[in-house]
Amino acid sequence: MENKFYLIFFFIFGSCIGSFLNVYRFRYPESISIIYPRSFCPKCKRKIPWFFNIPIISWFFLMGKCNFCKSNISFQYPFVEFLTAILITLNIFAISNLSTNYFVNLMGLTFFSSLLIAASLIDLDNLVIPNNLLLFGSISGLIFNLVSRKIYFKENFPTVLYKYLFMSFIFLILFEIFNFIISMIIKKEAFGFGDSKYLFMISTWLGIKGALFTFILSIYIGGIISILLIILRIIPRKGRIPFGPYLSISAYTIGMIGSDNFLMFFKDFYNTGLFIF
Ligand SMILES: [Zn+2]
Repeated sequence: MENKFYLIFFFIFGSCIGSFLNVYRFRYPESISIIYPRSFCPKCKRKIPWFFNIPIISWFFLMGKCNFCKSNISFQYPFVEFLTAILITLNIFAISNLSTNYFVNLMGLTFFSSLLIAASLIDLDNLVIPNNLLLFGSISGLIFNLVSRKIYFKENFPTVLYKYLFMSFIFLILFEIFNFIISMIIKKEAFGFGDSKYLFMISTWLGIKGALFTFILSIYIGGIISILLIILRIIPRKGRIPFGPYLSISAYTIGMIGSDNFLMFFKDFYNTGLFIF
């Protein structure tokens, strides 16, 4: 299934999604619509013609400057486009089964990955994941599973709603209880309510098992990255490291390899005794 054409197609497609996510990211704090007006230079407000708005390439072609007013364009634009393109291209190699149909699985993962990147970007910038995005992500997760599990796994709607909606609520409640206990012990808020809601959204896509494994993996990833940040003396802005991006990296990984495979790897990892904790 994985040939060169797919790689190129999904890389270009992913870079376009990345370009859209840039628009969402930079317009979110100013509450500007993501559809209208068309892309404009934040400095001189001139509209950017399409040939200067090609993902990744245009930034290098313009050497990081606006064609009209020559003000600098952040390197973050092409970087986000490139990163999105890579992550979406990698979905081609996913071994998970959101659906038994290869293309439906790939479509689901592409959508899910885009949501995760969007949430991370907004969380990194604003230390908040917008409710609109979480609601949109949760509804799309439910719709995806209702369709995919009905057609490809022959599950009826009540079963899917039970597994992906009801159980997600259960997960949210259990996680909040867990959060409350941990917060009591360490005497400060362990996880924000935003993180709980984000895990709820992840659960509507990956199920309660997927959300649980996402959380477990995020503790490891968060730990490793935090240590690196301390060693490299990169102090997080506003003195707080947002947890959303760690959840995103983990959810992306679980989405790619699937909960059952993750459990298998996780067990192997401990059984080999490579890591002693
Ligand atoms: Zn300009």
